[in-house]
Amino acid sequence: MKNMQLYAALMVILCSHYSCINADKNKRSQMNTIEDPHSFADLSGTRLTHLEWDAVIDFDHRKIKARAQWTLDYVKDTLILDENGLRILSIKDQDGHLLPFEEHEVDSVRGGWIKVLLQPKVQKIEIEYETMDRPAALQWLEVSQTMGRRYPILFTQSQAILARSWLPCMDSPSIRFTYNARVKVPPGSLALMSASNPQQKSPDGVYSFSMTQPIPSYLMALAVGDFEFRAISERTGIYAEPEMVYSAHYEFAEVERMIQAAENLYGSYLWDRYDLLVLPPSFPFGGMENPRLTFVTPTILAGDRSLVSLVAHELAHSWSGNLVTNATWNDFWLNEGFTVYIELRIMEQLYGREFHEMLAQLSFTKLEEALRTLPADQTLLKARLEGKNPDDAVGPIAYDKGYFFLRTVERKVGRKAFDEFLKNYFETFKFQSITTEDFLKFLRKNLLKKREWEELEVDRWIYEPGLPENVFRPSSTRFSMIEGICASFITTKRPPITKNWSAHEYIYFLQNLRGRVDYNMVHLLDSAFDFTKSRNSEILAVWLLLCIEAKYTPAYKTLEAFMTTTGRRKFIIPLYQELIKQNQKNQAKEIFLKAQNNYHPITYNSVAVLFD
Ligand SMILES: [Zn+2]
Repeated sequence: MKNMQLYAALMVILCSHYSCINADKNKRSQMNTIEDPHSFADLSGTRLTHLEWDAVIDFDHRKIKARAQWTLDYVKDTLILDENGLRILSIKDQDGHLLPFEEHEVDSVRGGWIKVLLQPKVQKIEIEYETMDRPAALQWLEVSQTMGRRYPILFTQSQAILARSWLPCMDSPSIRFTYNARVKVPPGSLALMSASNPQQKSPDGVYSFSMTQPIPSYLMALAVGDFEFRAISERTGIYAEPEMVYSAHYEFAEVERMIQAAENLYGSYLWDRYDLLVLPPSFPFGGMENPRLTFVTPTILAGDRSLVSLVAHELAHSWSGNLVTNATWNDFWLNEGFTVYIELRIMEQLYGREFHEMLAQLSFTKLEEALRTLPADQTLLKARLEGKNPDDAVGPIAYDKGYFFLRTVERKVGRKAFDEFLKNYFETFKFQSITTEDFLKFLRKNLLKKREWEELEVDRWIYEPGLPENVFRPSSTRFSMIEGICASFITTKRPPITKNWSAHEYIYFLQNLRGRVDYNMVHLLDSAFDFTKSRNSEILAVWLLLCIEAKYTPAYKTLEAFMTTTGRRKFIIPLYQELIKQNQKNQAKEIFLKAQNNYHPITYNSVAVLFD
């Protein structure tokens, strides 16, 4: 991440007198130690079990000033925390005594570490600190960048290793903790976290939160803005800016049914409430599964509930990811492959098997493209991200190859046995962080016989590049028909009749035309379907790719508007890449210059590297 302003390292050693022995010392040493290449924390040493966070959100200076009090599971005489660009003001023990510490900056992706020297009997440490310039997790939106234009907005995105840019912590998904928070924001704004949340604004701008289930640091989340709440069911509802809350409420009306569908398959929902916060369009992802409060992009508000599978995806993380968590980012497929599988099962429960197979086919198309374009060593399910930014693992391998591995296992053992296995898996590992190897051990013990294991080529699936021949291949009759319609359009140049097509059928149709159309054909389609004016962001995104390929300039005003207002990486990175590929790099750069202030640092960095 190139634009991150890093705090110049300050070496502070106040005292060198430290040593300690604690009764719990050996408690952790017998546990398996996880090696996490993206955390500096000593995962075999002192751990953090609970956080008391007291923060003031200062919109004028774009700063968070906070006190983080960590309860320690005390094992060693030092504690190493991850941080990235924080100004540490003091570190004290539970009695207010200053504790000596040193800081060291390592690189811009991982940030650096704080080493705290612990005295005997230290049970809690309290860190007073503030954020510096442009922490990578935070996006501050000015009043003019919001819908209501009354109050500014702040939101965080901590996954994968950005929590450390707003909270000194052991920033490894293998470490879990509970938290309470007290947050002060300007009056008129509502503060929300990945915790128990208020449903109304507090007159003094002070809010209290509690998260009683242990979570990893990447699920720490905060959003502040002019948000309003509307209930969907007793345990679920929507937060959004007042201008958007009604349309969001309509779009997500089926969330309660989705929760029930998932519970029928995989056991009770264990996080109390499930609410959604609709953020402004600059949110860099489709959604983020912050526990109890999924953050979502408004680009799924299509007006016809056609893109709600994204909500099913984020909800599915309440089991895979949040309940059973990847221990390191090399195991990311455990979070995402399982989540795609559950998402599609939820959609099947709501809309039928054919709908599942359509989504599976779209997933397979993405996977095939990824396998064609990625270097072989980036196509392993068990990733090798040492020395790399874990955000680079976000893509079709963890998600779609992961899904197809599970689908292939399901075909082998039968759905009934596989469903029972998954339910058992979530029950066994709930509120734990596990590695790929932990999962494989469980799979061998509880589901696959030796012969099945070999026939499935499990080791090849996990540790080797590409896709084994035995992969389950989806077949959707609707999509097969569309492939024929594409071929016919290319030959006859006559746009098809598309009565009763679903959004996914349009998306598949357009995807199938990639690399096969010229300016005139794009013009014909636009005249027939008005794709340039589509309100459906998924359709629009793939349509705009076709427009760039065919240099269909009548759509370029829409292209520019879309790329400057939307920060969702899934949409805009391919658009920038296509512009560059089609010798329109200057145009891409001009758009980036106009758009950059609207991008979250994550999106900004992903786009900026394309122009290196
Ligand atoms: Zn996901």
